[in-house]
Amino acid sequence: MNIHEYQAKQLLKSYGAPVSDGRVVLKAEDAKTAAGELDGPLWVVKAQIHAGGRGKGHFKESEAGEKGGVRLAKSVEEAEMLTKQMLGKTLVTHQTGPAGKQVNRIYIEDGSDIERELYLALLVDRVTSRVSIVSSTEGGMDIEEVAASTPEKILSFSVDPATGYQAFHGRRVAFSLGLQGPQVKQMVNLLGLLYKAFIEKDMEMLEINPLIVMTDGNLKVLDAKLGFDGNAMYRQHDVANLRDETEEDSKELEASKYDLNYIALDGEIGCMVNGAGLAMATMDIIKLYGAEPANFLDVGGGATKEKVTEAFKIITSDKNVKGILVNIFGGIMRCDIIAEGVIAAVKEVGLKVPLVVRLEGTNVEKGKEIIANSGLNVIAADNLSDGAEKIVKAVKG
Ligand code: ADP
Ligand code: MG
Repeated sequence: MNIHEYQAKQLLKSYGAPVSDGRVVLKAEDAKTAAGELDGPLWVVKAQIHAGGRGKGHFKESEAGEKGGVRLAKSVEEAEMLTKQMLGKTLVTHQTGPAGKQVNRIYIEDGSDIERELYLALLVDRVTSRVSIVSSTEGGMDIEEVAASTPEKILSFSVDPATGYQAFHGRRVAFSLGLQGPQVKQMVNLLGLLYKAFIEKDMEMLEINPLIVMTDGNLKVLDAKLGFDGNAMYRQHDVANLRDETEEDSKELEASKYDLNYIALDGEIGCMVNGAGLAMATMDIIKLYGAEPANFLDVGGGATKEKVTEAFKIITSDKNVKGILVNIFGGIMRCDIIAEGVIAAVKEVGLKVPLVVRLEGTNVEKGKEIIANSGLNVIAADNLSDGAEKIVKAVKG
């Protein structure tokens, strides 16, 4: 789960991280008051979307101006004007894809005098099963780009969970970034509090790009991107409350309410599968037969008829779906339950596209019988490749 930059900064500030003073603005008419509460003489007006690269992005609408989603203002009036220009517009960055994202929140913050831009991140390294600290002198750039062109400019190491964060970790980062004097101590403190926040809040990723050295020599967190482990939200209520549902795919949001593992994709074949491995295999085989999956959907082991019905509704609500492949291996999940769920869903929402059902495992005969007696126009398949071949053929002719 992701949160906005301004929320990330508030959270990190509560741990003691140095951030600029700022105000979030949801309505253009509040911009002037918000900017007026800050010191100036420089204001930065920042579009809040769950994607990076805002500064170098562009808006789809011409009235939002040519330049990106991070703009400097020299007066309260200018900050207000920029807020008006950006609110409600669609910002396209290399992370949003060509469709872009609508800007519904603006963060106005004090401008900083930047001497150097650095990069600092903490993330869960699945290879070492530890928290890794990544730093680079090349702040403000895409770290993927730095990694590709000048990997020697990136320092990365992991922290032993038995000791946790130690001051030498911070010194190592500070020295590699060329920090000096009091800056070293600042870095040791900063990394310590970031590590604490990372562990306590069940983060998956914490990226500060850029961390700046200001002209007065002090460090400041200028941008912050936090990602949290969705499975930990049951014990992170204050983080869960920061969720901005407008940033999420509406179908994925709906699926999460029913505890379905659903990821929207761009293809034309809707998939309903149980088990993540089988779901992956189903997506692969659809591709093998020349079509593209419209989604990843794992209804899970203990799905009820209601859950199956909701899953089916989510798939059919996707305009891109030209055909549906139900591929179930009944283990804990019984085939007759799936069959009943599919039929209940079709009765409720109708069926405008071809449907191929492949059932195997527990109560398979009962499941097939329920479907055969339903009077619905369902194409039965005997195995995985048969199912994929039939649905691709039904869709593509
Ligand atoms: P993004 O990474 O989405 O482009 P950032 O918050 O990193 O957004 O902003 C892009 C750039 O804008 C930064 O690298 C920095 O140069 C400048 N910038 C951002 N916030 C401020 C600020 N408060 N004061 C001065 N410059 C800023
Ligand atoms: Mg940034």
